[in-house]
This record gives sequence, structure tokens and C-alpha cells, in this order.
Amino acid sequence: MIERTLFSPEHQAFRDSFRRFMAAEIAPHHAAWEVQGFVDKQVWTKAGALGFLCMTQPEAYGGFDADKLYSIIQMEELSAAGFSGMGYGLHTEIVAPYILHYGTEAQKQHFLPAMATGAMVGAIAMTEPAAGSDLQGIKTTAMVQADGSYVLNGSKTFITNGWHSDVVIVVAKTNPTAGAKGTSLFLLEAGVQGFTKGKPLNKLGLKAQDTCELFFDNVRLPATALLGGTDMLNKGFVCLMEQLPWERLQIAIGAVAAAQAAIGWTLDYVKQRQVFGQAVAAFQHTRFTLAELQTEVQIAQVFVDKCTELLLQDKLDTATASMAKYWCTDLQCKVMDVCVQLHGGNGFMWEYPITRAYADARVQRIYGGTNEIMKEVITRSMGLGGKA
Ligand SMILES: Cc1cc2nc3c(=O)[nH]c(=O)nc-3n(C[C@H](O)[C@H](O)[C@H](O)COP(=O)(O)OP(=O)(O)OC[C@H]3O[C@@H](n4cnc5c(N)ncnc54)[C@H](O)[C@@H]3O)c2cc1C
Repeated sequence: MIERTLFSPEHQAFRDSFRRFMAAEIAPHHAAWEVQGFVDKQVWTKAGALGFLCMTQPEAYGGFDADKLYSIIQMEELSAAGFSGMGYGLHTEIVAPYILHYGTEAQKQHFLPAMATGAMVGAIAMTEPAAGSDLQGIKTTAMVQADGSYVLNGSKTFITNGWHSDVVIVVAKTNPTAGAKGTSLFLLEAGVQGFTKGKPLNKLGLKAQDTCELFFDNVRLPATALLGGTDMLNKGFVCLMEQLPWERLQIAIGAVAAAQAAIGWTLDYVKQRQVFGQAVAAFQHTRFTLAELQTEVQIAQVFVDKCTELLLQDKLDTATASMAKYWCTDLQCKVMDVCVQLHGGNGFMWEYPITRAYADARVQRIYGGTNEIMKEVITRSMGLGGKA
């Protein structure tokens, strides 16, 4: 195996302490959270109290100015353990960075320290029942009023952290006839009149993740709710595009960690499972199959680590991140399928981690931009046209 060179001893110490946190605060409860469809809110405040949220934010806003490798460690550990209910990554590395990069000083002061303690949980709401891949087709509007406030109407679906969300970045049309150039981002706080949440959705996987619908019925938003203030009016699409490489790489990072863990569980299983008087691992088919999977996961890890290096140097482009997202999540699903097969009937039983990992993997090819959309993005970087 090729040694990974990204992480320092400090990073490794952080990995150990996060593993201890997972063992104490997540492992004993995750199965129950899968049944209820969402994690307990306390696991957010406990993580915040121990400095496991928004670490990469500046100290002035409650973070530690940590580099992104700390967040990557969390993503890898949660994915490898199958703790797919935890929405820390989206909160820390998608929602908080939007506020840091584009927010006004007052918005940063108001939201970021509360997100770092876990007092506020963040979500981002782009997708609508009739618009996912085709984000320009969203129907949610935020129409400016005479006093400078906005009135928000519409609905969103499949929103990660939606049920627990205290602050939601809502993508809305502020000039419905201007397409992408008429889109803005708003910071919507839970509890505001006219804003309601649906119950967590019943999903194939990510059973403990509180994915839900959000509804906006004449929600009055002050002018200060526009992310970045009036300078950012109608510039929401630009912000969304700028953040894509890192968001897509995060999915690839989770995919590789989950696939590697699945190979580990399967190795253990095939060594102990006896059939026809010998271990399943004794069949050449089993050994060659695992060798092939391990080779591909190793290739994926090297590629993802290179993308991470580029990201840390601010050089990761959208097409390369899209390659990582599409290829690693396709691989993850292939690995899960083969590993389920090597588990036989037990691979179909929910009590086995491989079964949960198989279910959790499927959505990785869909969210964050489907893998078909990733290929559209890649073709454009090759000088080939495309609509999406
Ligand atoms: C568990 C989960 C969590 C999610 N979390 C969030 C969240 O936090 N926030 C959020 O905003 N959204 C979230 N999503 C939504 C997710 O990003 C969308 O589901 C995804 O972008 C696909 O959009 P869609 O469901 O509308 O599919 P559609 O766009 O309807 O796609 C249907 C099919 O058509 C294909 N297709 C579409 N366009 C093209 C094209 N141009 N060329 C070729 N094929 C194409 C797609 O690849 C797909 O196979 C989540 C979804 C899930 C399931």
C-alpha cells in the first residue's frame, strides 16, 4: 500500500481523539438513530463543546483556524465507521464556508460562533421537487418589498440536516426572469413565521440522516438575511459554482474511506466463514476479487489525495473534482456490491455493517450533482459542448 503523506502527527492525534468521540458519543446510539430517522441534537452540542465543529473557521468566529485536513479526517472516520447520520461535514465544510466567504461581518458574527458550538445546525437548500440537476429551474422566489425586506415563497426537498436545521442557506430567485443571474442566497433561521419543515424522509440508506422537505409560505425576511448584503443580490449562482470543487471532493473522500472499510470487513468475514470445509478466503475467486478491489481503491486514494493537495493550494478545478466525485462513488458502489456478495446471505442482513454501507453508498452517485452531470462538466473541460 502506498503510504499517505498528507497528515502530520498533530493530524493523527486529532484522528485518535475523534475516534474516541465516535466510540463514546455516536457508536452506542447510531442504530437507534437509524430507527428514529435523525440523530439526537445533543450529539451536535457535544461535538461543538469538544471542538469538532467548524474547526477550519477563524478563531474570531469560534473556530481554530485549522487546515481542511482536520475536516477530511472527520469525513474519513465517519464514512469508514458507517456513521452516515452525522451531518457534520455539510455543516462545517459547506454551510459555514458560504457564510465566511460571502457573508457580511454581522452575519459571520451572528451565525459562525453558534455553529461552532453546535447551538445552531446548518443546512443548504437548493433542490426542489421539480429542480435538482437543473438548478436554474428552481421556482422558489424571494421578492423584494418597498421597505427592502423580502418575501420568500416556495419549497425545497431532500435537505440534509433539514430537521435539525437552525440556519438554512436558501437558494431563491430574486429576479425570476433573469435565470442564473437572478438568483440569490438567503440565511433563513428556524422559527420564523411561514417556515415549516417536513418530517425526515424515509430513505433507502443514510437512515439516521435527517433529510427533509422545507416549506416557505410568505416568509418575511429582513434585508439583512440576504447573504453578503445588497452587493451579493443576484450573485447566488456565482457563489454556488465557486464552492463546487471542494463540495465534490468531500463526497469522493467519503467514498474512498467507506470502500476501504468495506474491504476490511469483508477480509475479516471471508477468513472466518467456512464453506465446503474451507474458508471463503481460500477460493482463488475470492482472493482475486479482493485483490482487484483493493487495487482500484488504492488508485482512488492516490487520486483523491492528489486532489486534496491541489485543494490545499487552491488549485483544484471543477472538472478534476468532478472526476473524483464520479469515479470514486461509482467505485464505492461496485465495492459494496461485491463485498455484499462475498458475505452471502449475511450481506443482506441490516445488522451487518456491509449491508448498511451498501445502502448508504447508493446516494453518493446522485447527490452533490449526479454522476451524469459530473460527466457533462468533464466533457466541457475537454472542449466538448453540453447543455447542463
Ligand atoms: C439523501 C439526499 C441528500 C440530499 N441533500 C441535499 C441538500 O442538503 N441540499 C440540496 O439542495 N439538495 C440535496 N439533495 C438533492 C440532490 O442534490 C439531488 O437529488 C440531485 O442533484 C439530483 O437532482 P434530482 O433528484 O432532481 O434528479 P434529476 O435532476 O431529476 O435527475 C434524474 C436523472 O436525470 C439525469 N440527468 C439530469 N440532467 C441530465 C443531463 N443534462 N444529462 C444527462 N443526464 C441528466 C440525472 O443524472 C438522473 O439520473 C439530496 C438528495 C438526497 C437523495
